[in-house]
Amino acid sequence: MAKPTIGFIGLGIMGRPMSRNLLNAGYALVVYDIVKAAVDEIVAAGATAGSSAKDVAARSDVIITMLPDTPDVEKVALGEDGVLAGARPGSIYVDMSTISPVMAEKVAKAGKEKGMRVLDAPVSGGDVGAQKGTLSIMVGGDEATFNEVLPIFQVMGKATLCGGNGAGQVVKACNQVLVGVTIAGVAEALTLGAKAGVDPAKIVEVLSGGLARCGVLENRGKRIVQRDFAPGFRCRLHYKDMRIIVDAAQAYGVPLPIASQVHELFKRMVVSGRGEYDHTGLITAIEELAGIEVKAHDK
Ligand code: NAD
Repeated sequence: MAKPTIGFIGLGIMGRPMSRNLLNAGYALVVYDIVKAAVDEIVAAGATAGSSAKDVAARSDVIITMLPDTPDVEKVALGEDGVLAGARPGSIYVDMSTISPVMAEKVAKAGKEKGMRVLDAPVSGGDVGAQKGTLSIMVGGDEATFNEVLPIFQVMGKATLCGGNGAGQVVKACNQVLVGVTIAGVAEALTLGAKAGVDPAKIVEVLSGGLARCGVLENRGKRIVQRDFAPGFRCRLHYKDMRIIVDAAQAYGVPLPIASQVHELFKRMVVSGRGEYDHTGLITAIEELAGIEVKAHDK
């Protein structure tokens, strides 16, 4: 059977490598982004440019969006010039952005009313996982549609069906509780150790062999002590994720005392002009409280 044509909308830090991997796997791609340079880059790699989200949808069998935030997906999916306005009945819409589970359900319902099939499929694994095709993909929707899209997901990483529409976004919110709380914990631990005079690089090395070892400490800890705050995953996007979590906790009636504090720390990063830092830069908000700068002694 011929490979489906894929529409890819949102060619940022994640969308560009994901679409490149799909091109390399032999899929035909029609792409769109509001930033022309991003479109030009992927067209040079073999894709065709669409003129709008609606145009991309009209020319594709499977439409993928990888956009920043809930309002962006609402506009691109449901807007006048959006995916649902252009898509053919029977086509499949997969939103891979991290957005509110409530919006994911709303988009799925609207898509189904138009005769489409819809999945929410947010990812974890960062820009490196996007480049290597090793993302963890958390999917919400029906099993038949999941199985049809599975070969496409497999180009980008490992996909797991978590439940019905919205379930992928719920699991991603759980992931972001853990990543957000852990990155703040790593920042506090390293600030304590550094102010007491110990080399924070040594702390990362030693703790990575004990009970506290985890992906955030091993991967992000090294970048923190090198003061590498280039994105990666921007603080403004992690702040957005913490907002999704706090809103979901409100909707489902779940107190989240620790995650709420981390939400405030990311808010501090954004309102003080550090929204473009990688989330490793969250340590600068803790450093301010302690009055020091945390860096490896050989740096
Ligand atoms: P990004 O800001 O780098 O990219 C988003 C892209 O969407 C940009 O190129 C932007 O121009 C485009 N865009 C915005 N509005 C648009 C519109 N109306 N029409 C067309 N294009 C539009 O963000 P990113 O880091 O690639 O993240 C994308 C999503 O993936 C976010 O929801 C983020 O939370 C999630 N995510 C990111 C990472 C990461 O490490 N960067 C990891 C996991 C999940």
